Amino acid sequence: MGIIEKMRLDGKVSFVTGGARGIGKQIAIALAEAGSDVVIVDVDIEEAEKTAGSIAEENGVKTIAIKTDVTKPEEVNAMMEEIVNTFGKLDAAFCNAGICMNIPCEEMTYEQWKKVIDINLSGVFLTAQAAAKQMLKQGYGSIINTASMSAHIVNVPQPQCSYNSSKAGVIQLTKSMAIEFAKRGVRVNCISPGYMGTELTLNSPSLKPLIEQWNAMAPMGRMGRPEELQSIAVYLAGDTSSFTTGSDFIVDGAFTCF
Ligand code: NAD
Repeated sequence: MGIIEKMRLDGKVSFVTGGARGIGKQIAIALAEAGSDVVIVDVDIEEAEKTAGSIAEENGVKTIAIKTDVTKPEEVNAMMEEIVNTFGKLDAAFCNAGICMNIPCEEMTYEQWKKVIDINLSGVFLTAQAAAKQMLKQGYGSIINTASMSAHIVNVPQPQCSYNSSKAGVIQLTKSMAIEFAKRGVRVNCISPGYMGTELTLNSPSLKPLIEQWNAMAPMGRMGRPEELQSIAVYLAGDTSSFTTGSDFIVDGAFTCF
C-alpha cells in the first residue's frame, strides 16, 4: 500500500469541536474526504447540522451533529456517550472550539478572563479528557488540540492577554497528556495556526481593521486559509503519525520566525 492509501481514514470515527464553521469545519471536511465518519460538536446546533448534512452528502460518510458547550462537563460526557452509542468507538478527537477577546489587560474583568480560559483551555481539557477515557479503554486513539501561534508570541497590536495565556496552556496540556498516555496507545498533539481567515478574524469588529496591518507584517504577505490546515489534521488523525505525540505543529507562514 502506498503512503497516500496509508493516510486514508476509512472506517475511523472522529469528532471536531467548534466544527460548525471556520477551522473546525475545514478539518471536518478533510476527515470526511479521507473516509472518516465525523461528529460535528458545537454550541451552534443549526450551523452544526448544516455542516454535518453537507459533509455527509458530499463524501458518503456518516455524520451527526451534537449540541455541546465544551465548558460544561455534563454536556461533554453526554456527547461522548452519544458518540459511543452511535459508532461504538472513537479514533480521533479534535478539541478545537475557541474564542478570542481583545481587551487591554488592565480593563479586563475577571468574568471576561474566565470566559476565555473556560472555553479555550478548560474546554479543551474536558473534551480531550472525555475522548481519552474512551481511547484508553480501546487502547488506541489520537487527540489533536487547537492551540495558536499566540501561544508562542505576543502578537501585536491587539491586546489578548487571556487568549495568549489560554493557548500557551493548551500546549502544556497537550504535552502533559501525551506523556501520561504514551505507553497506552493514545497520542496527543496540537496545531498552532497563524492568522487564518475565518469568522473569528474576518468578522470580529475589533480584529477586522487590523487585517491589512497583519498582512503587511506577514512574511508571506497574507493570512492563511483554514483549508491549509487540512493535510496536517488528516496526518495527525491517522496511523502514519504513529510515532508523533507531544508535538506542536506551527502552521503560520513563518509569522513566528522573527
Ligand atoms: P470561529 O469563530 O470561526 O469558529 C469557532 C466555532 O467554535 C464556532 O462554530 C462556535 O460556535 C464554536 N464554539 C464557540 N464556543 C463554544 C463552546 N463553548 N462550545 C462549543 N463550541 C463553541 O473560529 P476559528 O477561527 O475557526 O477558530 C477555531 C480555533 O482555532 C479556535 O480555538 C481558535 O482560537 C483557533 N485559532 C484561530 C486562528 C484564526 O486566525 N482564525 C488562529 C489560531 C488559532
